[in-house]
Amino acid sequence: MKAFRGEILSVPEDPALAGSEAVRHFEDGLLVVEDGLIVACGAHVDLAEGYAEAEVEKLGGLIVPGFVDAHVHYPQIERIASHGEQLMQWLERHIFPAEKAFADRAHADGVAAFFLDELLRHGTTSALVFATVHAGSVDALFEAALQRDMRIVSGKVLMDLGPEGLSDTVASGRADTEALIARWRGRGRLGYAVTPRFAPTSSREQLADAGAVVAAHPDVLMHTHLSENPGEIAFVAERFPEAADYLDVDDRFGLVGPRSVFAHCVHMSDRALARMAEAGAGIAFCPTSNMFLGSGLFDLAQADRHRVAIGIGTDIGAGTTLSVLHTLGEAYRTCQLRGASLDPFRALHLATQGGARVMGIGDKVGALLPGQEADFVVLDERSTPLLARRCAGASLHDRLFALQVLGDDRAVAATYLRGRRAYGKSGAA
Ligand SMILES: [Zn+2]
Repeated sequence: MKAFRGEILSVPEDPALAGSEAVRHFEDGLLVVEDGLIVACGAHVDLAEGYAEAEVEKLGGLIVPGFVDAHVHYPQIERIASHGEQLMQWLERHIFPAEKAFADRAHADGVAAFFLDELLRHGTTSALVFATVHAGSVDALFEAALQRDMRIVSGKVLMDLGPEGLSDTVASGRADTEALIARWRGRGRLGYAVTPRFAPTSSREQLADAGAVVAAHPDVLMHTHLSENPGEIAFVAERFPEAADYLDVDDRFGLVGPRSVFAHCVHMSDRALARMAEAGAGIAFCPTSNMFLGSGLFDLAQADRHRVAIGIGTDIGAGTTLSVLHTLGEAYRTCQLRGASLDPFRALHLATQGGARVMGIGDKVGALLPGQEADFVVLDERSTPLLARRCAGASLHDRLFALQVLGDDRAVAATYLRGRRAYGKSGAA
């Protein structure tokens, strides 16, 4: 049995619904871990006696749950910061050529290892990840995640209308998906997501087939893009004139349900959001990507009116940082431009337990509650001179907000997976 002593903060419930009761904060806290699972988390004064036999490690910094990245593309990491286009042209010019290289398994292995190490360095312990159309790209990511004991959910991209060299067929897409599910089911902390890229790159037959695979496997997610960019939305409206809106296209093929995760959802009708809430589907809010591609501003208040489940996505390579922490500062700015605000405790909830719920792993990670896996991050408020100066003597609210606005990978002192240190800044506590 091991225990970690330090300042501990988690937000198991959404403060927008549960109020300040949602916040669990222990200035001098103790997180007790056995076999990778949390057995207790509370004030040191309350727990020290009961767990006197535990070996105690003191952590200087703010202990929060490991971050959950609810939408990110590992094959695009080397194309981050590609200049000058909106979504459809950016895909053609920068992304599709990069994804073609993942036909080579050795290339996929190299990028997967780099990507996962970068996630850990940024404090991300769970992620819902796009691979490419190649089954080997998923094998590469899952093997690397298994080695590192990370909670990664991914799937082979379905895109039978994709460009030459980057497309499958209904039959090959189905066969690869079924084989990957069978090959990886129950291994480590991995999960599978049936992953049609988005409606523009799949035939009706393939979308219907994806819906059938999701229905056949109650343990898999469905992960896709929705209503991101005006050019894309116009294309979908033209191709599917019978659908009420973009979401309805996916709905007609059985792709809207409680295990569905839709990235972006920037331009949504109230009908579509009400339908998502009714189905129990979730949204990955990707603010840096939406600004980078000029897609628009996600309307959190509108989604809240329908009580749709929300997580936070970095969406590399259109996103501009792998830091979920920094992405929260950008989410705040998006809300400001929409005339709303985003409370820093709520932001932390969305980046941890909120995202975990969207991914269907909310019982396993995200809140530092007993029974959950001990995935956590130690944040260092002294990681830059400005952050240190802003946080000195400040309230918890103000420190947390400063970390979101000014912080990034530099503020991550250490990352723990199931109670084991998986990353630590040299010289950090
Ligand atoms: Zn994406």
